[in-house]
Amino acid sequence: MDETHDTSDLTVEQLRARYQVEREKRLRTDGMAQWKELKGEYEAFDRDPFADPNFSRDAVTEETTVTIVGGGFAGMLTAIDLAKHGITNVRIVEKASDFGGTWYWNRYPGCMCDVESFVYLPLLEETGYMPTEHYTSATEIFEYCKLLGRTFNLYDKALFQTDVTDAQWDEEAKRWRVTTSRGDTLTSQFFVLAGGILHKAKLPGISGIEKFQGKSFHTSRWDYSYTGGSATEPMVNLEGKRVAVIGTGATAVQVVPQVAKVAEELFVFQRTPGAVGVRNQQPTDAAWFQSQKPGWQRERIVNFTQAVTGGHPEVDLVQDGWTELMWEDTQVGSTPEEAERLERIDYELMEAIRNRVSEVVEDPDTAERLKPYWGKHCKRVCFHDDYLPAFNRPNVHLIDTEGRGVEALTEHGVVANGVEYPVDLIIYASGFEVTTDLYRRLGFNPIGRDGVSMAQRWEEGARTLHGVLASGFPNMLLISIVQGGFGTNFSHLLSEAAKHVATIVELCVERGVETIEPEQDAEDEWLNVLFNIGIHNATYFARCTPSFYNSEQQGITMKSARNLTYTGSLLDYARYLERWREQPTFTGVKTS
Ligand code: NDP
Repeated sequence: MDETHDTSDLTVEQLRARYQVEREKRLRTDGMAQWKELKGEYEAFDRDPFADPNFSRDAVTEETTVTIVGGGFAGMLTAIDLAKHGITNVRIVEKASDFGGTWYWNRYPGCMCDVESFVYLPLLEETGYMPTEHYTSATEIFEYCKLLGRTFNLYDKALFQTDVTDAQWDEEAKRWRVTTSRGDTLTSQFFVLAGGILHKAKLPGISGIEKFQGKSFHTSRWDYSYTGGSATEPMVNLEGKRVAVIGTGATAVQVVPQVAKVAEELFVFQRTPGAVGVRNQQPTDAAWFQSQKPGWQRERIVNFTQAVTGGHPEVDLVQDGWTELMWEDTQVGSTPEEAERLERIDYELMEAIRNRVSEVVEDPDTAERLKPYWGKHCKRVCFHDDYLPAFNRPNVHLIDTEGRGVEALTEHGVVANGVEYPVDLIIYASGFEVTTDLYRRLGFNPIGRDGVSMAQRWEEGARTLHGVLASGFPNMLLISIVQGGFGTNFSHLLSEAAKHVATIVELCVERGVETIEPEQDAEDEWLNVLFNIGIHNATYFARCTPSFYNSEQQGITMKSARNLTYTGSLLDYARYLERWREQPTFTGVKTS
């Protein structure tokens, strides 16, 4: 591998060629099919290690105004917004044993949010809570979710450790009927699907997974009974153990430094290097926090999203790695000259990230192998100060597979590049399903009007208005990225979606509307909006290395095109929702 520091004398074609070589190593024909679902023979991987397995309760049969599936930020914020609109007759169904969603499941050591806490944690002005650091640990965020639950009286609305098994629209009664794994029958006028975006864990499709005789788990089901310790205490049981981490994405970047501190040997299996910028963690300055004027959080959230989507706000309030790296939206150039200028900026920003690897990692070969050769919008960039230094420890070994990935598992360990690495523990930092069918990720297949299920109606891709209302499914409201928004700061996206959903319910109740469902014309118009925005960055994405941002470069089908997200700025997406809400009457929908 060659080292490139000064790129000014290279043509854009030369820069592009460097990425192209790496991209081609990673293209594969099986795309999303390369992953294994945590079902059937892999079901044990999905067991909740944090819940009481003996929990039981009586079945509930009731009617409410709204049933919400999901008790993460999306579900909680929807319930909170509904209550602000006077709608408190709400039921929340949640698979886990508490609120938190992502922050319930992801308790792996080192887990934290890489978006600044003052813009990530919702409702700070209302709760008065001051995050302890600029980037909050998962433990603190989970506690904050519980605080939201207590502050906004959500606990008595929740049915925990409960999976929705079926949901069906009853046309005669004009109600949704939801049944659950605990025998509940929940009837409601509105049905909100807030089941999560990054919640369905996946395993890499490596042959022989079932053969391995040691311990293994996915990062979102961390087994502290095996590792010892906790998210805050050292994992003493890993002393003397040989550990494999498979994956080098945003999760692995946080896990590796923690395991490196205790394991006798740590083998990090890399398929594509992650990009790791400077974190610069700091404690919160209490005086600064207390001096903020009312409305400060909304202003900061909007400012951050502007800063990371090419909105160029006058002041950059957050000023961190995200805002520096994402300041220019390099995906779109209105002229060939502009496109070339942006491509060069993108390359140079990534080159700075690559140069940092050489500055931190002592062994030159390891450093070269840790360098990410992909554009900054192709995968989620990470920020961490301990990941790269971990590779300077004598007990940490990078096993770079040059895009091929781990080949197989044996009874005793992991095979990569034709070599078997015997280990005691395998940690799958292999991520989550993001672009698979929504009903597959939800774990149930809603049945709408005329007995037609979502799988049937969306056979050739999703049909929605704004990613929220869907024809054929009256009174069903979606919070997902399917035809919805997307953003660096997911909680901003979820807050906007929750506000929209709650307002629709409120307006229906206020206007005496019994059912609401989009017109197909309005859905087609929305699809056009999505296509027109998507077309601008299609060229950029086509050059990217495979990732869940581009459905593993499987090629575009009508179905995948229809399932796309709004790829412009989250602020523009939020404006679409706002303009729609501000109309004096509902537009583009049928009501009764
Ligand atoms: P990712 O999907 O980003 O990473 C999965 C990793 O597994 C990749 O490095 C992938 O390689 C690797 N992999 C897959 N198959 C194999 C194989 N056969 N052999 C070796 N490696 C393999 O999952 P993460 O859990 O890291 O992150 C998912 C998302 O979660 C992030 O994008 C982010 O949105 C969110 N997240 C956010 C955080 C935050 O602070 N806000 C923190 C952590 C996660 P390849 O790249 O080649 O596919």
